[in-house]
Amino acid sequence: MRILITGGAGFLGSHLCERLLNEGHDILCMDNFFTGRKANIAHLLPNPNFELFRHDVIDPFKAEVDRIYNLACPASPPHYQYNAIKTIKTSVMGAINVLGLAKRTRARVFQASTSEVYGDPEIHPQPESYWGHVNPIGIRSCYDEGKRVAETLFFDYHRQNGVDIRVVRIFNTYGPRMLPDDGRVVSNFIVQALRGQNITIYGDGSQTRSFCYVDDLIEGFVRLMETTGHTGPINIGNPGEFTMLQLAELVLKKVGGPSKITFHPLPSDDPKQRRPDITLAKSHLGWEPKVPLEEGLDRTIAYFKTIVAA
Ligand code: NAD
Ligand code: UDP
Repeated sequence: MRILITGGAGFLGSHLCERLLNEGHDILCMDNFFTGRKANIAHLLPNPNFELFRHDVIDPFKAEVDRIYNLACPASPPHYQYNAIKTIKTSVMGAINVLGLAKRTRARVFQASTSEVYGDPEIHPQPESYWGHVNPIGIRSCYDEGKRVAETLFFDYHRQNGVDIRVVRIFNTYGPRMLPDDGRVVSNFIVQALRGQNITIYGDGSQTRSFCYVDDLIEGFVRLMETTGHTGPINIGNPGEFTMLQLAELVLKKVGGPSKITFHPLPSDDPKQRRPDITLAKSHLGWEPKVPLEEGLDRTIAYFKTIVAA
C-alpha cells in the first residue's frame, strides 16, 4: 500500500515509518520539522520506497494514498504550549486536511488522539466511554481541546461522508528517538540523571502516569488500522501505573550518579492520575503491552547514552 504518515519524522512517526517500510509498503513521510528531526529517519532515506516531504499539515496536501496516519502535532507540554494557537490549528486544520484527502482518495485515515481527551480524570482507570474532565481555557487546552475537536471531525466525516476512520487514544509513550530536550518526564529524568543534574519533579510527585514502550504502541497502531469493524476510539497504553516519585527513583537506581531529587511548582491543570482501561484493545485487537517499564527504561537509557554527553 501507499501510506502517508504526517508527523513522520517525530518520535512515534519515525518508528511507524520504519515498521511499515519493513512490511514492504511505500511510505510518504510528511513533517514540518517543528519537533521532528531528519536524524530520526536518516537511515530510511536510501530506501526507494521512502519519500520525505517538508510540509505543514495545516496546508492542504494532494497525493494518491491508501492509508493515512495523522500524527502531526507537538506532544510535549512545553512544545505544544510554545505556540498554542499553532497547536490548535495543527490539530483542527490538520484533521480537516487529512479527512478531505481521505474522502477524495477513499483512503482509510487514522488519528493519533490522546489520553488528554480525558483531562484530569474523575474516573479511574479511564475507559473509552468516559467523556472526560477538560478545562477549555487553560494552558493545556490548545492540545486537549484541539485533539477533542479532531476526534469530532473524524466522526462527522465518518457519519456524513462515509470516510473510513480509526481513532486511537494514546497514553504516555516513551522510548528511543525522544528528543533530549523534549520536556516530557521520561526523557527529562533520564537525561538529567545521565548528566548528573538534579531530577526535577513537578509538584510532590504523587501524580501518576502509565508508561507504554514505543514498540508496543506501534503494534497497537497497525492492528487498529488493519482491523475491520471497529473505528475506535480505542485506548492503547500500558496499565502499569507509577507516581512520578517512583519513576524518578527507578531512573536514578538504573543510571546511578550524583543527581538528587528536587521539587518544583506543579504546572496548572496537570492531571493527578492516569491509567488506561485496555479491555477494548484486548478484545477487539488482541493487543496488550509486552514490555514492562523496567525493560523499556533500560532500552531508552541505552539510547540516550549514545546521544547525551555526561
Ligand atoms: P513528536 O513531537 O516527536 O512528533 C510530532 C511530529 O509532528 C514532529 O515530527 C513534528 O515536527 C510534526 N509536526 C508538528 N506540527 C506539525 C505541522 N503543523 N505540520 C507537519 N508536521 C508537524 O511527538 P510524538 O510523541 O511522536 O507524537 C506523535 C503524535 O502522537 C502526536 O499527534 C501526539 O499528539 C500523539 N500522542 C503522543 C503521545 C506520546 O506519549 N508520545 C501521547 C498521546 C498522543
Ligand atoms: N513532570 C515532572 N518533571 C519533569 C517533567 C514532567 O515531574 O521534568 C511531570 C508532569 O508534571 C506530569 C508528569 O510528569 O505530572 C508527566 O508529564 P509529561 O509532560 O511527560 O506528560 P503529560 O503531563 O502530558 O502526561
